[in-house]
Parts: sequence; structure tokens; C-alpha cells
Amino acid sequence: MKPVLNALTVDVEDWVQSTYDRDAQVGPRVVTNTLRLLDLLDCFGVRATFFVQGMVAQLFPELVREIDRRGHEVGSHGYAHEPILRQSPRQFEEDALRARELIGEITGKAPSGYRAPDFSIMPSTLWALDCLHRLGFTYDSSIFPIRHRRYGIASWPAGPHLVRLGDGGAIAEFPISVLQLGQTRLPFLGGGYTRLLPVAAQLWGIRRLNRSGLPAMLYIHPYELNPKEMDELPISRHSPLRFQQNWGRRSFERKLRTLLATFPFAPARAILQALGLVE
Ligand SMILES: [Zn+2]
Repeated sequence: MKPVLNALTVDVEDWVQSTYDRDAQVGPRVVTNTLRLLDLLDCFGVRATFFVQGMVAQLFPELVREIDRRGHEVGSHGYAHEPILRQSPRQFEEDALRARELIGEITGKAPSGYRAPDFSIMPSTLWALDCLHRLGFTYDSSIFPIRHRRYGIASWPAGPHLVRLGDGGAIAEFPISVLQLGQTRLPFLGGGYTRLLPVAAQLWGIRRLNRSGLPAMLYIHPYELNPKEMDELPISRHSPLRFQQNWGRRSFERKLRTLLATFPFAPARAILQALGLVE
């Protein structure tokens, strides 16, 4: 039996601007952190999808060209990293279009895939899928199919599928991976979950998904590979945010290496193409 390919996706953003202070300038750490990740992926011969934030692409177009040159898929992470909940449909469309055009100009290819800031496609913002389709995106990977305080749609299908839209069209959705244990769905993979949970649990979870024929969707951020970043920033050592965001960064690269050495990974679009969900 052919092994199931899993999706590796990278949200390319600068931690300070995306998570700490949205009004801050995007800093050059995103470049060094992303280049480090690109080298690591080259070591494993793995190609991924990089959902690049528009503000990053605008300031550092050479980084976007480098991601493309090394054979990865370049998708969009929107422009300003503003959660959709805080935007009107019109503001969202402007933000998504701005990033799409910037990335398209840099790579010469319009991005196919979109990832919302903070997984903010939720029951109240599902209209965003119609908008993404109108703008020309063929897939989205923003829905976390769990019940969570800040994001998620608890009843959403757990694997890649086509979503029928109001205008009669459709867009593919590649949701973030969850584990179904009886009636309960648990997040176990990606970002903070990969930082905080033992890698054995993540290996077990991916095997379980793959045995049922489902590809895993792993998402990471370049800054998670940098355990020293917080020491360089003017953030109090006693800040709960610093504690929460720094916890597990030291073991992150080791865990990622284990995942990359254990399972085959590919860009999200390639997996959706193989499933016949996008062209
Ligand atoms: Zn993000």
C-alpha cells in the first residue's frame, strides 16, 4: 500500500508583529528564521507550503523568491495578520487581495492556497470562503475542526474535502489535523501543540490518521525554531505571553526532525491535487 503523504505548512510571519503587537514593524528575524527552516527542509529533502504574510512579502521579496526557488509552494497568509473576526467582509477582501497581488508579482504565480491569521474562519466568518474563491484561491487551510475558546468549528469534517459555495462554485478545504477519540476531538499537532506535547503522542496521532487514509496537516512557524528570540526582545521575563510562547521552543527542532524523518511530507496543494480536489 502506498504511504499517505502528509502536508507540511509554514505560516511565514514575524512573531512580534503577528502575535505581540500588530502595529509593530515586521522585523528581519522572520528572514533568518525562515532561511534556517529552508536549510533544515533541504536536509530532509522535504517540500512544504509556505503561507507567506503579505507584510513580510512586501518588505522581504527576496525571501519569497528564495522559498519559491527551493521548490516549495508559496501560499498566502493574508496581509496584516488581522483575525477575520475583526474585519468586515470588505476589509477582509482588501487584505486578502493585497497579499495575493504582492505574492503573485514576486513569484510570477498567483497563490492557490490561503491560511487565515489565527485560524479565524469560524461559523460567523464562513463567508470568507466565498470571498477567497472569488479572488481565485482554489483551496483554504484555515479551519480547525474542534471546539476551542479562540477558534474552530466543532462539527466541521476532519479531512480534505470540497466546500460548495453560494455562487454554485466550490473551494477545497484542508483542515488542521485533529484526533477523534470517541465523541471527543483533540488537537495534537502543529505550532504550540507540537511545542508542548510529547513527540510520541504526535507520531501516534499521525499514524492513526494515516491508517484511516487521512493525511495529517502539520503547521509550524519559522520563529518556533528560534529559542533565543525572546531574549532579544524587550518583553518582561515575567510576562505570561512570553512564558506561553517560548515554552517548548528548545525542543521544537528536535521534534520536527523526528516527524520529518518518520513520515513523508509534501506541499498541501500537491496532496489536494492527488486527491482530485484542486487542479
Ligand atoms: Zn499567523
